Amino acid sequence: MLQPIAPPPFNLQWGFSTRAESPFFMPSRLLSQVHGTRVLEASDQLQEGDGLWTMEPGRFIGVRVADCTPILLAGPIGERPWVAALHAGWRGAVGALGEPGILRNALGIFRNLGGKPWDLIWALGPALQACHFEVGEEVVEAARRDPAWREDLAKPGPGGRPHLDLAAFLKSQALDLGLDPAKDGSLSRCTRCEGDIFYSYRGGDLKERQWGWVRID
Ligand SMILES: [Zn+2]
Repeated sequence: MLQPIAPPPFNLQWGFSTRAESPFFMPSRLLSQVHGTRVLEASDQLQEGDGLWTMEPGRFIGVRVADCTPILLAGPIGERPWVAALHAGWRGAVGALGEPGILRNALGIFRNLGGKPWDLIWALGPALQACHFEVGEEVVEAARRDPAWREDLAKPGPGGRPHLDLAAFLKSQALDLGLDPAKDGSLSRCTRCEGDIFYSYRGGDLKERQWGWVRID
């Protein structure tokens, strides 16, 4: 189990699982993930979306990933803790059909509830990094619609096709949304480079996933 490298803002448990962790200790599956941008308040029901949030102590929430980026967020709303877990591949980060991406949606919810983005501790977990994230030109085209896009976030790879730095793109979005760079607890670990530690879809793990999870104590 890996932890975000920034201390949480209140008492909570959180982490990014690896191949070594038993699924038995992971959250119940509450999301039917569709590579979209919908972020939902967690309930006992299985819902279709790619992010969950909760303010309920003891509720164990998470997202399942293998190459996509798990994102954990934790911050206060007044005196009360708020946490979220998001699943962001390039589709979720970019947002389909001109919609905002999933991180933008999550921050919209936090702000509407009265939270201040600067207060959030935020962490991107193990995911496919730029070394292995070859994409089509249409992905770069789609990402250009985001106000936080910069041209240096995609560079031609050895095969000639672009390699996307999804983590750097998500960080650029985070700063654009008013998050504090000093509260960034991200781990820069590549699921494909470290296939012995992490599940990687592109590395052949078509079914199994690791979790990014969080629970308010
Ligand atoms: Zn890699």
